[in-house]
Amino acid sequence: MMMVIFGPPGAGKGTQADLLSQKYNFVKFSMGDILREEMALSSPIGTQLKKYLNRGMLAPDDVVLHLVENFLLKHQGTNILFDGFPRNINQARNLQKIVSRFGNSLDIALEMHLSGKKLIKRLVNRTYCPHCGRLYNYATNPPKVEGICDACGYALEKRRDDDEAIIKKRLDVYEEETRKLTNFYKSQNIYYRVDANGSQIEVLKKISQIVDAHIDKK
Ligand code: ADP
Repeated sequence: MMMVIFGPPGAGKGTQADLLSQKYNFVKFSMGDILREEMALSSPIGTQLKKYLNRGMLAPDDVVLHLVENFLLKHQGTNILFDGFPRNINQARNLQKIVSRFGNSLDIALEMHLSGKKLIKRLVNRTYCPHCGRLYNYATNPPKVEGICDACGYALEKRRDDDEAIIKKRLDVYEEETRKLTNFYKSQNIYYRVDANGSQIEVLKKISQIVDAHIDKK
């Protein structure tokens, strides 16, 4: 099975992608994580990427498409969950081409919906552990000791793009580019939408209903 999750920054895509890949047999492809890994390597591509990500802009399509192809080559024959990819129509069209070249097709394109005010609140309060990747939120899900990861004891950090001005830019990019995926996937008859309000477990339940119905159909 191939599934895409899209939605504005802060909707909880990464969290749900982790929960879904634990619950079902998905290999997760997180474009944001892969791009941040490239940046941490300070490779020529990583240095180029910083100019985009640190301003809240999308990375160039040729770079992200190349990363997706490499990933699919390595994971042929597995169920894949795409988190944060595609983010515009060009990426969506290319994903379809790439996937069909591998003899596959997308089954579910899920939009996670949340209003702008709530998104900003979630993102400005977000913090994460650079060691184990665990996410925290000072408003809703704080660590037991401020600034320290409960799981591994490392010092927590803030993502550089979780700064209010950059968050606003990321939300604008979402409205201008990624929102168009709704009609694109509706026309392919694989579009679903969930309300991303509520606890992680509540949202997981709603998404699981969609995935389960799909598995039953097969
Ligand atoms: P969020 O969804 O909360 O913005 P991500 O970690 O998924 O967080 O993405 C962080 C940043 O990585 C985005 O703001 C964008 O600059 C870049 N990025 C992620 N996915 C893509 C993509 N498919 N195409 C281009 N850039 C991307």
